[in-house]
Amino acid sequence: MNQSNKKTALIVGITGQDGAYLALHLLDQGYKVIGTSRDVRRTDLYRLDYLGIRDRVSLCSLDVLNRTWVHDCFERYQPNEIYNLAAQSSVGKSFQRPAETLSYNTNSVLNLLEAIREVDSNIRFYQASSSEMFGNISPEVLPVKEGQIFHPASPYAVSKAAAHWIAVNYREAYGMFVSCGILFNHESVLRGDDYVTRKIMSAAFEMLDGRKAPLLLGNVDVVRDWGYAPKYVEAMWLMLQQPEPSDFLICSGQKCSLRQYVYTVFQRLGLDPDKQVGTDPSLYRAVDLNEMYGNNQKARSQLGWNYSQSIDELIECLIQDERAFRNWNVGRKK
Ligand code: NAP
Repeated sequence: MNQSNKKTALIVGITGQDGAYLALHLLDQGYKVIGTSRDVRRTDLYRLDYLGIRDRVSLCSLDVLNRTWVHDCFERYQPNEIYNLAAQSSVGKSFQRPAETLSYNTNSVLNLLEAIREVDSNIRFYQASSSEMFGNISPEVLPVKEGQIFHPASPYAVSKAAAHWIAVNYREAYGMFVSCGILFNHESVLRGDDYVTRKIMSAAFEMLDGRKAPLLLGNVDVVRDWGYAPKYVEAMWLMLQQPEPSDFLICSGQKCSLRQYVYTVFQRLGLDPDKQVGTDPSLYRAVDLNEMYGNNQKARSQLGWNYSQSIDELIECLIQDERAFRNWNVGRKK
């Protein structure tokens, strides 16, 4: 185990939205941060650049499907805490690539947990589980809580449910410190371009710059529980600071339809959603979750995690962040 006073955290999947915000949070807490990517040389590290932390973290390539490589990585860095965020994380893409999604999202977790057992079973492990695991549940059980039966409705959700139970099994079978964060959708300017909230925000800003083509969306009647990503990563860290491992549902507790989300963004920016937004049936999913929102009471009471942003405040914050990000990006390209 690491001998210096500084704790070492290893973030598997540091190049994604959550990886970047979590790295910033851990650096602020005084950690030495190691971050992995499938290929550090080829991956775009713009998120770490945007947060100004690229030089403050150590980066290394890691193929989590290669057990020996994972083992050697843990031996080398001797982390105290490991946060597993790497995944094929798009529900839409999972319908196009079900085998890859299932294989990567589950075998990666098995390899990481086996390597912890081999190297040091005291390493604390965070698994990124997802509200998608609950699937299409009946409205009577909403807002959903920990303990609700999973009925996953996409290959992504199936893979996350399997990974979740693998993680729980290692906790119960080997007494390892494994906690799963069941996170609901959390957004930021660092969200991937193909996610709907970011697609909406980008299109709206492009329209302010003269874009004529309308924004086309799938089912806008879905209801979701959206939150702000930088606040959600704090909960990941809190989970690994508890005396005992457990699973926690992390959500805002507020529901909002995609239609309401689009209207709020467009109207705040002085755009007309009735004229500039349309639907395209080809964008509908094979199965979609109609309504999903959660209860964050356990996280509030046991982790002391606070979340108070209303949906309107979240959207305003995302608009401000989008402006700042676009200005930064223009400067970067000059
Ligand atoms: P993300 O931006 O998509 O990042 C995921 C990371 O996984 C990336 O850094 C990438 O690293 C790696 N990755 C991307 N595509 C991959 C693929 N096809 N195969 C293997 N690895 C791939 O995800 P995020 O939004 O930060 O979410 C972090 C974790 O939380 C994910 O496991 C996600 O499923 C889960 N989650 C997210 C949300 C949400 O609302 N954001 C909600 C619930 C759960 P490299 O390309 O550098 O290897």
